[in-house]
Amino acid sequence: MAEEPGVTRDRNYYQTSWNRKSFYLVDTGGLDPTSNEQMTRMVKFQTDIAIQEADMILFLVDFKVGWQSLELEIAKQLRKTQKKVVVIANKADRAEDTDRIQEIRRLGLGEAWAVSAINGLGVAELMDYVASELPEKVEADAPEGISIAVVGRPNVGKSSFVNTILGQEKLIVSEIPGTTRDSIDTQVEFEGEKFVLIDTAGLRHKTKDKDELEYYTSLRTLRAVKECDVAALLIEAPQGPVKQDLRIAQEILQAGKGLLLVVNKWDLVEKTSETVDEYKKFVQQGSSFLSFVPILFVSAKTGQRVAKILPLAKKVYEERQRRVGTAELNDKLGSDIERHPPPAVKAKYIKIYYIAQVDTEPPEFVFFSNYPELIKDSYIQFLENRIREHFGYDGVPLKIKLKKRK
Ligand code: GDP
Repeated sequence: MAEEPGVTRDRNYYQTSWNRKSFYLVDTGGLDPTSNEQMTRMVKFQTDIAIQEADMILFLVDFKVGWQSLELEIAKQLRKTQKKVVVIANKADRAEDTDRIQEIRRLGLGEAWAVSAINGLGVAELMDYVASELPEKVEADAPEGISIAVVGRPNVGKSSFVNTILGQEKLIVSEIPGTTRDSIDTQVEFEGEKFVLIDTAGLRHKTKDKDELEYYTSLRTLRAVKECDVAALLIEAPQGPVKQDLRIAQEILQAGKGLLLVVNKWDLVEKTSETVDEYKKFVQQGSSFLSFVPILFVSAKTGQRVAKILPLAKKVYEERQRRVGTAELNDKLGSDIERHPPPAVKAKYIKIYYIAQVDTEPPEFVFFSNYPELIKDSYIQFLENRIREHFGYDGVPLKIKLKKRK
């Protein structure tokens, strides 16, 4: 992770486990007293959310610096939360440092542990303790059906979209408690198929601040994406995909989830008969990694095409589970490779002997070659394109691995 003081905005949720207990580790930005006011406010805000959500708070201090006014201030706030706090004194790099832990305990925040994140000293013991103290979570019954996370930047129309879906006739709706605390899951049944909608806008945080809203949205987005089969990424039609939309799209694909691009507020776009095709081209040329992603043009306001999301999500869900037989795979791709073999590198002829699909959700393919290390990314892209051409996999990221075979 980038060592940027202040806000770490990327990847601040880690799903992990220790001693067979699984939990989320939330990494807040850290409180840097020298950062500017806006930064400090943001960090305080994210820390507040993390504290609200947490079952346990790990309060990291610098062992060498000890208690400064800032730490004392934070300690005061933490005492008020009534949550379990574990003080971790980091940078205790030498074994004898651990004796000084008494000083740290004096602050009266409960348990204190000395660790050295650099050499790992004390970390395993600390984690044993943390895992043993975490409450046993009674897992809510996993809702049945194809789960669709509705994600996107603030104000793209997520709540309107979900409400419009739920307002449809022919839909059996039952609300279920969310598996996370910050989204509302709703189970719907449509034409005999069960779906779970994970609505990341459902519990709206009352803030008008744009940065705060976006930060809060991104935390929810990551968690909802982790839980879903397919993510419906909403963007605003008049603006087109902006940088942050593309970043969310990449997160979804990297997580191996199905992706549907939902262009909302289509009612605001002036249209001719060509507009849909032009718009698709515009999106896919701007970001080639979206070329295999189905695009749906909707208006949550008028309800136009909103109903299509469920059958389309089902299609992507099925594609993500699709397994192609080895014979068919080798037959089809074998002739493509024969026609366009990987270019020789340094007079070495590169051969691909055999292909297998080794996994689904997301689909994973292994290509066995005499020189896997010499195969270029552009050729891997060629192979991916051929797989898609023969077998589909619309909306689904594919994993492609190369392995050595003599
Ligand atoms: P969220 O923050 O993503 O949940 O967005 P909301 O559902 O709260 O919508 C944000 C704003 O966009 C609201 O004023 C909605 O009325 C408006 N909005 C949502 N969908 C549409 C749409 O399809 N067309 C138009 N014109 N406005 C929409």
